[in-house]
Amino acid sequence: MSTAPAAASRRVNVRTPEVMERVQAEVEAHYKSALVEAVRARGSVLQIGNTTVRLAREFGFCYGVERAIDLAYAARRVFADKRVFLLGEIIHNPEVNRQLSEMGVISIPVGKHEEEVSKLTNDDVVIVPAFGAETDLMKLISSRGCMVVDTTCGDVMSVWKRVRGYAKEGFTSIIHGKASHEETRATSSRALGDDGNGHYLVILTLADVDFLCDYIRSGGDRQAFLDRFSSASACSVGFDPDLHLNRIGVANQTTMLKSETEEIQRRLQKAVEDRDNGSSSNFKVFDTICGATQDRQDGLFHLLQQPLDLLLVVGGYNSSNTTHLVEIGEQQLPTFFIRTAECLTNLEQIVHFDLHLKAEKTSYSGKLADTGNPITIGITAGASCPNNLIEDTLVRIFALRGIDESSVGVAAGIG
Ligand code: SF4
Repeated sequence: MSTAPAAASRRVNVRTPEVMERVQAEVEAHYKSALVEAVRARGSVLQIGNTTVRLAREFGFCYGVERAIDLAYAARRVFADKRVFLLGEIIHNPEVNRQLSEMGVISIPVGKHEEEVSKLTNDDVVIVPAFGAETDLMKLISSRGCMVVDTTCGDVMSVWKRVRGYAKEGFTSIIHGKASHEETRATSSRALGDDGNGHYLVILTLADVDFLCDYIRSGGDRQAFLDRFSSASACSVGFDPDLHLNRIGVANQTTMLKSETEEIQRRLQKAVEDRDNGSSSNFKVFDTICGATQDRQDGLFHLLQQPLDLLLVVGGYNSSNTTHLVEIGEQQLPTFFIRTAECLTNLEQIVHFDLHLKAEKTSYSGKLADTGNPITIGITAGASCPNNLIEDTLVRIFALRGIDESSVGVAAGIG
């Protein structure tokens, strides 16, 4: 194997018709569900006896995730004789990442990207996940001469375009997102602009926003500001709140909660106007929540208009858009964030991720336990959750109510 780095990475197109035909069959076998499609076709409701399951109008894989998975599978097939690496996770779902690992795709953990990429050669293939990757890392991959299969979602690239534009016009990007999230790290790197002189600040909570708004209006303790944001790697190197908050442009991670993002935009605009005697010329905003995230949040709001006893949100615990679905559900009814159907341990226990404790725990659900009670359970899932996991959950719910899988299939019209 060659060890000499080549001059530049080679972006490769692996989506040839022959490859995609095979890949799509494989992807369907791994992640599709005839049962889920059948329930969807019946109005997204399945009732057997006194047990009813309602699916959200929109849930599960989005176009960006489908494309990323297709490309990753295609890369493995096209480069069957090469080492194929993946920067972190292709998407935030353990089942999908497990499948790729079983296919021989080697994940490079997020904290080891620079160290491990530095060892790659021009005979290696690197898959860039749907979230994208930081510019410095892309340059490093390029310097190693690796072949690159870039699955970055187009909606993420739209955000990059926006923050690059802010930098070009001398505006600091205020990014609503999680500073450590792969997508936000990639976006932050683009906010430095093409010349690297731009700046950014990442805010996550409304408390962050209020702190920032106070500083915009009347200044304050510069060191306290830097302690709050630079310790969490949430601002650009050299960021100075006394210099870099004069002109701000707001963008967001594509998967944030729409209502919260709108509130953040509103508060920031008001702060700038208060400081600038009513003028908003030093404020720009562009809503960068992607259509798929929006559709899943809207689909859940629609589902919540029906009477439900319980809501199950299925997905990876580190999935941003899934987390926000849980937040929406929790405001209205008992909501459990489960990774797989196995989290429904038995009739009395649900293993789930508690967003507030940031840990998995086990809670009791008496409603599932008593088969004499009529119950209605809602199910939704984020953009990174495959339908086979929804099917498992559906089947498991009915099994816990004493209804076997074949009866579920018959009731859905596929038995
Ligand atoms: S959630 Fe949105 S940004 Fe992320 S992959 Fe899907 S469509 Fe793209």
